[in-house]
Amino acid sequence: MRLDAGVFNVSSCGNEVLVRSGFLKYNRIDKMTRRYHTAAGLSVALLLAACGSASQQSDLTVATPPPQNVIFFLGDGMGMTTMTAARIYAVGEDGELTMDTLPETAFVKTFSNDAQVTDSAPSMSAYMTGVKMNNEVLSMSSDTRAIDPIADANGNKLANNCGGSNGNPVPTLVELAKAKGWSAGVVTTTRITHATPAATYTHICHRDLENDIATAMVPGGAGYNTALGTSGLDVVLGGGKQFFTPFKDGGKRADGRDLIAEMKAKNYTVASNATEFNAVDASKTERLFGLFTSSHMSYDLDRDPAKEPSLADMTTKAMDVLSKNSKGYFLMVEGGRIDHALHETTAKKALQDTLAFDNAIKAAIDKAKISDPTLKNTLIVVTADHDHTLVLNGYAKRTGKTSAGNAGVLGLVKNYVTGATEKDLDGAPYSIIGFGNGENRTQASRASMASLDDTTTSANTYHQEATIRVAAGSETHGGTDVFLGAIGKGADTFLGTIDNTKVFGLVKNAAGL
Ligand SMILES: [Zn+2]
Repeated sequence: MRLDAGVFNVSSCGNEVLVRSGFLKYNRIDKMTRRYHTAAGLSVALLLAACGSASQQSDLTVATPPPQNVIFFLGDGMGMTTMTAARIYAVGEDGELTMDTLPETAFVKTFSNDAQVTDSAPSMSAYMTGVKMNNEVLSMSSDTRAIDPIADANGNKLANNCGGSNGNPVPTLVELAKAKGWSAGVVTTTRITHATPAATYTHICHRDLENDIATAMVPGGAGYNTALGTSGLDVVLGGGKQFFTPFKDGGKRADGRDLIAEMKAKNYTVASNATEFNAVDASKTERLFGLFTSSHMSYDLDRDPAKEPSLADMTTKAMDVLSKNSKGYFLMVEGGRIDHALHETTAKKALQDTLAFDNAIKAAIDKAKISDPTLKNTLIVVTADHDHTLVLNGYAKRTGKTSAGNAGVLGLVKNYVTGATEKDLDGAPYSIIGFGNGENRTQASRASMASLDDTTTSANTYHQEATIRVAAGSETHGGTDVFLGAIGKGADTFLGTIDNTKVFGLVKNAAGL
């Protein structure tokens, strides 16, 4: 039985005992999730309170409102060119990703307080708090200066040097949700202490302070973010064990704390690999804490499903745990490694991770519709924090999706009339995907690239060519506006070209936070 069917009609306060027996009967009938226990308990409590004030006849109907849910999907670095390339890669030019089917869309400006091109810290913080802040700052006031960490006792640059009077924390959507009695979850493929997830649950002057960031999620411990309430985050899934593990045990913590043990002591069900994760019975799990890797989780292209769950599986498991709260939940899901693959200029990895992110969105919409078919109480938002410098070169002939024997969008530019390989002014072929900057730039003439072929450019580890040569792994973010798509409750308020700080208020209002 659904929660919003939890309505009790009584004709007299003298029927108190009958109502109680009615409650028990509902229990027997439904076998009952905790959600319904709570709803029924609330109704009985209200009834008894009403009866205490009068003994005469009265009619009382108490309807418990349905849970309000928000799922915020963030594709890290997922610019629109990457989305287009991922569509062609996965389903061909005329196919549709789930992201393409979202009914409401907007463009989002991503500049930060001090930079034309943002990093993930202020951009995700803008979504979560509505405040424009400096690059590398997490969920603090605009005046907060990003100050690099200094060396700790082990020589790792992880010691806090933020200073005592360097800005103030600003509330996040996750904190607002917890304050309303909702559940909250954070799911990512990066370290759980990385900038995007960290912006939801912590406040700090520099994103690199990942030891400090980890302590913010441990209820009751030193460094805990008390704005998360007494219970803290209800679901935490991702990578990054090293910032929860003492240095002497192979981790990065200089304070000797074992935060995984501390989370266990706070009644979190802990999963450290896919087997343990798959064994978690969400219906019996109040709080779930899963860290699957020491650092980031694997690229989807390299992922061993026996060791690491997919982003889609983490998302739906999180929904199962969180949805037991009768008031609702806020869930943030990050496809975090799209960004890393783009920094490496390894396009195939980036496109496959974008596809894994899209699969998670599809799984979430499908699951949400089981209990809320029209999504009238569920808002799902999909966006990115910033662009990269990926481009699609040439007047390429349509390739269709990438498959065995077809490089697709990962191949060379072919003439759309003749199918012949196109050549640049140096007489050499070139790939459809390139980058504005990156590690692979041919020195002098590209004539030396005359033998470049699809097999080479579509390989898992091929670094697409770039215009500006930078150090390996250092391709930069881009400053272009990003896509936002929305479906469900209040989705139609997302439209036009909006600043990233405006997204916070739109989510807050749509969800009633
Ligand atoms: Zn990045």
